[in-house]
Amino acid sequence: MYDCIVIGAGPAGLSASLFLARYRRRVLTFHHNSPRNVYSHGVHGFLGHHGIMPSELLARGRDEVAMHGGLIVEGCVTKVEKLGDEHFRVSTGAEGEADHRAIATQSFEARRILLATGLRDLTPDCPGFADFYGVSVHHCPDCDGYEVSDRRVAVLSDGEKGVGFTLGMLTWTDKLTLLTNGGAEGVTDEHRARLARFSIPVREERVSGLEGDAGEKRLRRVLFEEGAALECDALFFNLGTQMAGRLHETLGCELDAECGLVTVDDEQQTSVGGVYAAGDITPHSQLAVVAAAEGAMAAIHIHKSLIPEERRV
Ligand SMILES: Cc1cc2nc3c(=O)[nH]c(=O)nc-3n(C[C@H](O)[C@H](O)[C@H](O)COP(=O)(O)OP(=O)(O)OC[C@H]3O[C@@H](n4cnc5c(N)ncnc54)[C@H](O)[C@@H]3O)c2cc1C
Repeated sequence: MYDCIVIGAGPAGLSASLFLARYRRRVLTFHHNSPRNVYSHGVHGFLGHHGIMPSELLARGRDEVAMHGGLIVEGCVTKVEKLGDEHFRVSTGAEGEADHRAIATQSFEARRILLATGLRDLTPDCPGFADFYGVSVHHCPDCDGYEVSDRRVAVLSDGEKGVGFTLGMLTWTDKLTLLTNGGAEGVTDEHRARLARFSIPVREERVSGLEGDAGEKRLRRVLFEEGAALECDALFFNLGTQMAGRLHETLGCELDAECGLVTVDDEQQTSVGGVYAAGDITPHSQLAVVAAAEGAMAAIHIHKSLIPEERRV
């Protein structure tokens, strides 16, 4: 019986695992498939590690967990069952998204569960996207807005959220163009007037591709099905996200009515006793440093919840 099984070894899961191991808890951590920022060329804004490659940050994290006695295993968690108040069974196997490296079907038991399975970004389906993603094509202004200061930026997003996103980008640059990719229905006259006030054009044609220096991952222009190409230095898209897994559903964790992410209390505990959640799957800023902080918070509260009654006053 483990004290805690952590599902996910991104910044949230690893930070929690490190703290749990430092509390000398028996912790087992699973990871499967890539963490969210696998395409990123550097983690920005992580104090003391600004610009570190995501793979390097995670490799250091895994080493630090192992150094403290935590166990990290590559395997796809396919099921989590609550068997009792302090008793969960976690199954891993070759179902679902498992790849050839997934370990054979096995089950493990624990007194607490931490879900740190992250999100997946919905990305544009246009030729050239993969050539530039993570270096000159981004989705997160908090992460990469500073890097495009005063550059020519295209924003690919439709409707009202595209208007809000584009206005938000004025923090860094006023050389903006909103691309609605054929979906301008939600852009009202009032929105257009607001954008015009900042001289931001709206291009409504469907995007047909991205072009530039693929070797350097530098975007140079956006191509459209009709009309002239748009010369630009970077593109931001805002198409939404989805949960990387559905384990929270089978456990019955409540979701936030507005954003659909897993609700937690101020101890990172979900609506299901003994099940905690941290990182991008909870309704907070989706940043590596926030995920790591939430992982640490979850670990502190998981540890406290496991302290026997006779040691409490
Ligand atoms: C392109 C890009 C650039 C970014 N740049 C920055 C930046 O510059 N600065 C910044 O602060 N943030 C950045 N972010 C955001 C940051 O990457 C996320 O906020 C952070 O990764 C969230 O951490 P997490 O631990 O919650 O989830 P993730 O990092 O996504 O990790 C999820 C973990 O869950 C595991 N997992 C999922 N399902 C299962 C399962 N069924 N079984 C076992 N394991 C499972 C995965 O293997 C992975 O280990 C960027 C994101 C992207 C996409």
